[in-house]
Amino acid sequence: LVRLENVNKHFGTLHVLKNINLTVSRGEVLVVIGPSGGGKSTLCRTINRLETINDGQIVFDGKVLPAEGKALAKLRSEVGMVFQSFNLFAHKTIRENVTLGPTKVRGLAKDAADKRAMELLDRVGIAAQADKYPAQLSGGQQQRVAIARALAMDPKMILFDEPTSALDPEMVQEVLDVMVGLARDGMTMMVVTHEMGFARRAANRVVFMADGQIVEENTPDEFFTNAQTDRARDFLSKIL
Ligand code: ATP
Ligand code: MG
Repeated sequence: LVRLENVNKHFGTLHVLKNINLTVSRGEVLVVIGPSGGGKSTLCRTINRLETINDGQIVFDGKVLPAEGKALAKLRSEVGMVFQSFNLFAHKTIRENVTLGPTKVRGLAKDAADKRAMELLDRVGIAAQADKYPAQLSGGQQQRVAIARALAMDPKMILFDEPTSALDPEMVQEVLDVMVGLARDGMTMMVVTHEMGFARRAANRVVFMADGQIVEENTPDEFFTNAQTDRARDFLSKIL
């Protein structure tokens, strides 16, 4: 579904992505793990073109990025993104947060968007909160709304950038459970997370990134029990 070929990204003199080669197939769940500043967020952001790249190419669904204009809007609607900080619209209700994209971007009728929003809110377990505002919900509930909002656009892939790291510990699991459900339903996902339980339950592959490079790529079992590089072993010893 998405293929990065020799992708390089610089911020000024800082070389943030160094010759990245990576493929994510349809239905695959990829977990990206690694130390702070290693380029994980930047990697996610290049895929839906929140960031441009300096060199190499990214092929999404058979088309080479960069996309511009209408094609860029289409790409953004096909690649959902869930952030650490939820990013819900504070002055809109939960239901409106979920219907906004489909009605404004997709031109879906309000009734149809509402119906779909309620199905998705039900799927993430918060249909009862549909007419509340984000601030009235817990962090875990807000993040589940963010997932429903991403799903409302019928994305081909969802990128998750540390979706649980801003949550109180007791709310982490409810969000991970929703994500595991998506993975089981065949959603293509790239997930930046240090939640090893999630990686073990749902990931097909773990990519370890440090200093802008993919240092190691393996199945979750192999990676967590038998990391190949000192860099990865050192990192794991700190988070385990
Ligand atoms: P973390 O685990 O802390 O989220 P990360 O692996 O997601 O880290 P990135 O956010 O991708 O890392 O950042 C990689 C490097 O690029 C860092 O050195 C960061 O300071 C730098 N960087 C990121 N965004 C920008 C930007 N917009 N302008 C300049 N430098 C940036
Ligand atoms: Mg990051």
